[in-house]
Amino acid sequence: MKPKIAFFDFASCEGCQLQVVNLESEMVDLLAAVDIVQFREALAEKSDEYAIAFVEGSITREKDIPRLQKIRQQAAILVALGSCACIGGVNCLKNFHPLEEVRKYVYGEKANWYETFSARPIDAMVAVDHYVYGCPVHKDEFLKVVKSLLLGKKPEIPTYPVCVECKRAGNVCLFEMGLTCLGPVTRAGCGAWCPTNRGNCAGCRGLVPDPNTNAEKEVLKKYGLTMEQAVSQFRIFLGYAEVAK
Ligand code: SF4
Ligand code: SF4
Ligand code: SF4
Repeated sequence: MKPKIAFFDFASCEGCQLQVVNLESEMVDLLAAVDIVQFREALAEKSDEYAIAFVEGSITREKDIPRLQKIRQQAAILVALGSCACIGGVNCLKNFHPLEEVRKYVYGEKANWYETFSARPIDAMVAVDHYVYGCPVHKDEFLKVVKSLLLGKKPEIPTYPVCVECKRAGNVCLFEMGLTCLGPVTRAGCGAWCPTNRGNCAGCRGLVPDPNTNAEKEVLKKYGLTMEQAVSQFRIFLGYAEVAK
């Protein structure tokens, strides 16, 4: 019998689930290896019997918590899918403003109709077994994680910074061009996607483990920045880490 997997979403743009839907040629192999029993973005059928749950999105409301806990209870393996779920992601931008103001800005006179609390990653609420980082996730990394889980192995996710991949790609460092980049403190795995296309790394894959000791400090030091200063310039994805530290 094939392992049953399910997809769930909380506060998100659903772009990470879309990456899975967009697997195209690899989808046939995926469907040969697993039964997808719940996937709102792609399937009408729905079953609550699954062994592996992929959860997209961050937690932003009280009523999200029991729903997430129920998924955790059912799933033998729970995987956070994408930056919103793994690190809080873009939703955490609201944590820098008073919640009342945010609600009024978005919902106007109907602000009181909608509950909200500070946005957070799913592991702030339940135990998470594995993470697929990125905004959005990379299809190849998603498939690599699924393959490892089916083989009973721990998925290997890089713990070194984006700079390593950027240097391997032979890029000229953006700091040399007078720009700033979060590559020295951001977890690799995207192949230095943004710097390779002349954009700065905004940290969508989250910080490397223990960035204070592992960061390529010499790069930041050379350009007169501390790790904290670099991170505070890029609140797009790292808001939760910044507020929680
Ligand atoms: S991580 Fe990015 S692409 Fe994925 S759901 Fe969140 S905002 Fe969308
Ligand atoms: S700081 Fe950015 S541009 Fe420079 S090497 Fe690192 S990832 Fe590449
Ligand atoms: S370079 Fe940085 S922002 Fe761009 S995809 Fe990689 S981790 Fe995300």
